[in-house]
Parts: sequence; C-alpha cells; structure tokens
Amino acid sequence: MQALPSETLPPGPRRTILGRPMKSTARRLVETLRAAGHEALLAGGCVRDLLLGREPKDYDIATSATPQQVAGLFPRTVGVGAQFGVMMVIEPDGEYEVATFRTDGEYKDGRRPEGVTFASAAEDAKRRDFTINGLFLDPVTDEVIDHVGGRADLTARRIRAIGDPRKRFEEDRLRVLRGVRFAAALDFEIEPVTWDAIRDFAPRIHDVSPERIREELSRILTHPSRLRGFDLLDASGLLHEILPEVEATKGCEQPPEFHPEGDVFVHTRIMLGMLRSDASLPLALGVLFHDIGKPPTFQRDPTGRIRFNGHEYVSAELTRGIMTRLKFPNAVIDATEALVRNHMAFKDVQRMRVAKLKRFLARETIDDELELHRVDCASSHGMLDNLDFLIAKREEFANEPLIPPPLITGHDLIKLGWKPGPRFKIVLDAVETRQLEGSLQTREQALAWLATNPPEIQEDTPES
Ligand code: ATP
Ligand code: MG
Repeated sequence: MQALPSETLPPGPRRTILGRPMKSTARRLVETLRAAGHEALLAGGCVRDLLLGREPKDYDIATSATPQQVAGLFPRTVGVGAQFGVMMVIEPDGEYEVATFRTDGEYKDGRRPEGVTFASAAEDAKRRDFTINGLFLDPVTDEVIDHVGGRADLTARRIRAIGDPRKRFEEDRLRVLRGVRFAAALDFEIEPVTWDAIRDFAPRIHDVSPERIREELSRILTHPSRLRGFDLLDASGLLHEILPEVEATKGCEQPPEFHPEGDVFVHTRIMLGMLRSDASLPLALGVLFHDIGKPPTFQRDPTGRIRFNGHEYVSAELTRGIMTRLKFPNAVIDATEALVRNHMAFKDVQRMRVAKLKRFLARETIDDELELHRVDCASSHGMLDNLDFLIAKREEFANEPLIPPPLITGHDLIKLGWKPGPRFKIVLDAVETRQLEGSLQTREQALAWLATNPPEIQEDTPES
C-alpha cells in the first residue's frame, strides 16, 4: 500500500529524562540497519510521543531485517521475543527494541497470535492497535510515514482502532484497556465506533491474563490523569468487570454530616481526583479500596444513624483478595492493605500518648497514609485538624530519630539471667515506650528501671 502524504516532525524534545540523546542513538541504529541493505524506521509509541512533543518512554525500531540479521549487526543483542521477531539491542544509553516488520497470524484465544509472518512496513502498521500507535518516523529525514491515518487522529486528539475495532478487540482483548489508558494519559477522545466496541468487549476482558490487566490498571492509576482513566473504566463497564467491589460502593449512603459530598463511590472518586499527581501505586489503590468495606458493614442504628463498624478491616480483607486475584506483587499488596487498614486510626491521633504517636509516625507507609488521610478529609467534611496535628508533631520530633537506638537489648536481659522467650519483646517494648516518652534516657536508667520493676508488671505497657 502507498504511504499517505507525509509530514515532517515539529521541533520537540529529543532527549530522555536522563538527558541523553536517545533519539540520536536510535537514528544510528537505523543507519546501521540501512547500511546493511535493510529498511528501518522508528515505530509506535515513540513516534506518537515525538509528534505530540512528549518525551518518549523508549525508542522502538521496526525493520525488514530478520532477528538473526539484527543480531549479526550489533555487538549486544538479546532475543526478547524472537518468535515474534523482536530483538533488544543494548547500547550504553539504554535498550532499543528492534522488531522485524510482521503480520500477526490467527488469534484463537483473544490474547496472542498463533504465530507471525515477516511482512512489509505497511502490513506491520496495520497489525498495531490504534492509529496513533501505527505511525513510522524516518529519524534521518524526520519524515512521518502514515499507513493508517494516525496523523489526522493525532491532530484531532482521537483514539481510533486500526481497521474494524471489533475484529481488533476480538484478536486481543487487552486493547480495550490500552485504549482507555491512552485516552486518559493523552487526554484524547475515543472515537464513537471504537468506544462502542470497547463497551461491548468489556465483559470479555477476563480472557486476558490477570498480570496484563494489572499492568494496564497500574499505569492508569499512577498517571496524573487517573481520574479520567477511572471515569472511562467506569463508563466502559471495565470497572464492573475488573473491580466490582469498587462499583458496589455506588449508592452506598453515608452520614451527611461527615459526607456532604454523597455516597461512597462519589467520595472515592473525588479523592482520586485530589491525589497529588505523583501518587504511588499503593496510595492510588489505597484510595480506591479504603471504603469498599462500607457496603458490607452498612448499618442503621435505632436512632437512624448510619454506621460502618470496623469497615476498614473488611476493606483491608477485600483489598487483599482483589490484589491477589490480579496477581500484584506481595510488597504492593502489603503496602496497600496497610493504608486501607490504618485509615481510621487518624481519628485517634490527638489522644495518643507520645510513644504511640512516635511509633505511628515512624511506620514505613506513613507518607502515603498522610496523603490518603488528607484527601479523605478534603473530599468530605474538610476538617484537617488531625493532619495538621500530625504534621506539627512530626516537626516537633524532627530533631532526633522517631525511634532511637534501643537503650538495652535482649543480650542485656540474658546477662541478667533471663531466659529468652516471648516476654523479652514485651519488656523491651516497655523500655522503648519509656524511652520514647522521655522517662528513660540512658542505658543505666533503663537497667535500674528493670531492676526495680518485676517482669510481671512490665507486661503492662503504658500505651493508650
Ligand atoms: P507506552 O510505551 O508509552 O505505553 P507504546 O505505544 O509505546 O506506549 P508499547 O506497549 O510500548 O506501547 O508498544 C509499542 C507499540 O507496539 C505500540 O505503539 C503499538 O504500535 C504496538 N502494540 C503494543 N501492544 C499492542 C497490542 N496489544 N496490540 C497491537 N499493537 C500493540
Ligand atoms: Mg513503548
């Protein structure tokens, strides 16, 4: 097929976030391939991003050279998807994906082709998902080669599947989630025929592996455009499929004096929109899941007051279930679950004794917890007194470590003739509590305190 009229690249950034001129490396790789008699072009996301004046995440090259030929031309290559014709060329400034022009074979499982056939550049463009992702760029002349009408859609800020959207989603269901992600991240509209197909295919997203769904979801939620992404997930029916527990918060009434903004879903949505733009994945997920325990714990007491007793623990349990289902790494599950489980503890901070407060502030997840608490309050009653209190306390405690080195250790207890056992921790915690409160300041004081306090009473730690 003849290429559509080409245009040249507007001036834009040419460096990666590391400040390295990766595009010039990509250009050198293209020139090396061409010098050996092959066709070679920049392809896909990097072309889209360059044309939008955005920093490409990485540079991909499409070529007529076979993987073996690519391997023979560059000193360091790794076959990352050799069966699909994809080689990784490793250069000092980064890794470059060099993929042989191909068409995909038949898709039988809604996920991946049975095989691939090496093909022309035009055919390679047409196997890609969206028109804006189907462009090629000649890095030597800055000429854009457009076989799919991607240029016009980029200008119109439009997500459109290449060819018949239904056929394309039939091949690979993940594309519906990618469409949502690109629409959100680029702030583009989804063209109506593509959108209708996304909505129709949403119930079939489960044909895709949980890991791939998780990756797209994570990218949607960690991007500053997460609120639009969330709204598109909701409107497309994907939220219903992937996170039914979140959708179930729709219509879950809350006490109006604490939640004038509306039901649990509305509250959660506003929080997502208020999050600082660089919010971590556990934080964004924590916001999404913090109140999913409300529908199952909803109760109206005899006076008509709405209560959600212990909802944070139910939310935490549901969180673990969802994230296990989506195969999140354990560290991400643990961090998210901690945020969800602790989100109600903030109401007590002004009554906590110093030791408990210091331990509260010393927890690993505290920064994300403070941000979750901030948006929790800001999106509802607007009272930030507990947050202000914690920030002031953190300042006050800033001169020394929140948890200083221990005054005594288990070795000291052994030297005193104690037998190691579960009581060690209780006693050492009791000493630490007094250290944090300031009543024990030296090792000598701690040992003297131990000598005058029989172990029985030391089990009673003075925490609130
Ligand atoms: P980004 O890397 O910024 O998320 P990208 O467009 O580069 O965006 P990649 O996943 O890196 O996305 O894929 C590179 C290119 O490969 C895409 O631009 C697209 O042309 C093609 N592609 C990726 N995934 C699919 C898919 N599931 N179906 C069809 N084509 C795809
Ligand atoms: Mg990419």
